[in-house]
Amino acid sequence: MPLNVRGYAAASATSALAPYSFNRRDMRANDVEIEILYCGVCHSDIHQARNEWHNSLYPMVPGHEIVGRVARVGSKVSTFKAGDFVGVGCMVDSCQHCASCAEGLEQYCEEHATWTYNDTDRHDGLPTFGGYSERIVVSDKFVLRMPDGVDLKTAAPLLCAGITTWSPLRHWKVGAGSRVAVVGLGGLGHMGIKFAKALGAEVTLFTRSPGKEADARRLGADHVVLSTDDAQMKAVASHFDFILDTVPHEHDINPYLLTLRRDGALVLVGLLGPLNPPANAAYVIGGRRTVSGSAIGGIAETQEMLDFCAEHGIGCDIEMIDIQDINGAYERMLRSDVKYRFVIDIASLRKAA
Ligand code: NAP
Ligand code: ZN
Repeated sequence: MPLNVRGYAAASATSALAPYSFNRRDMRANDVEIEILYCGVCHSDIHQARNEWHNSLYPMVPGHEIVGRVARVGSKVSTFKAGDFVGVGCMVDSCQHCASCAEGLEQYCEEHATWTYNDTDRHDGLPTFGGYSERIVVSDKFVLRMPDGVDLKTAAPLLCAGITTWSPLRHWKVGAGSRVAVVGLGGLGHMGIKFAKALGAEVTLFTRSPGKEADARRLGADHVVLSTDDAQMKAVASHFDFILDTVPHEHDINPYLLTLRRDGALVLVGLLGPLNPPANAAYVIGGRRTVSGSAIGGIAETQEMLDFCAEHGIGCDIEMIDIQDINGAYERMLRSDVKYRFVIDIASLRKAA
């Protein structure tokens, strides 16, 4: 019997998300079937539902910040059992034999990681569907263990917003004494501030929104710079070791480059497309600065981040919504009107039956 589940899907780039029923694949020996409890709403869900990355497959069931309970496991699964609380992020598979996979960097799989939704399963060629749904079936290697004591609701966005900010902070060795800036206070940005602070850095928020200052300080920022104010930008010239840029749209990175010290790095995680205006090479030559990018994080690193959060009592600041409110939530995110991540209570999907 195929596993029929209810979810919400976009039928095209211009249609609102609406109820949609579909089948999950038959269980393979290494699969885990998860009853989804909560799913975070990432800006990537909007980009993809609306085909802003020009690679969308429809119908699309978004959602890659998934927390749930194991319902059953395949015959070869020994690491999880029914009843365990688990998470699934942006990837559900990868080749498992290339150099990147061997290093635990499955997100950079040389044969292309299989994304949780808007992708094609590498074994059966069927579309993948995400977490705006009742259940999901995932290979055990891509299932994360939710540590004891974590709040499952506030942990859901860690599976993408959390790991996407954690991984570059670790890769660029941010720690005590580092001067870190985060650009944009949204889902990713608020976790960037929390993690940089927890790692011991001096943290600054760059924002366009004057109203976010008090929240930024509550989240751990030591300083807030209004990026639209030239005097405030000049005051932090050549100041930072590391800048995490979470802005989802085209924007000018040159003013931020000038705030990096010698050998500092600006790491893009938001924009997926050409820089416009282009980066001025003079700014990276002078000061030997770096412009780089980073995609989510590997599975082992995601588990490390979840364990760090449990140990340090770190969760996301969330606003719970019913799935029926998802289209309004997208509009609010586009107005930067969310503090700081929407999480869908998947019970609302079951209630609606
Ligand atoms: P979000 O919650 O909407 O936050 C984005 C923030 O960026 C806003 O709150 C706003 O902050 C600022 N911003 C928005 N539009 C801007 C503009 N036109 N110019 C300057 N600043 C702007 O989004 P999110 O969920 O954090 O995602 C951020 C981006 O990261 C998205 O593009 C998403 O697709 C991408 N992403 C990438 C990865 C990866 O692996 N690299 C993973 C997840 C998400 P202020 O009001 O403070 O200025
Ligand atoms: Zn995401």
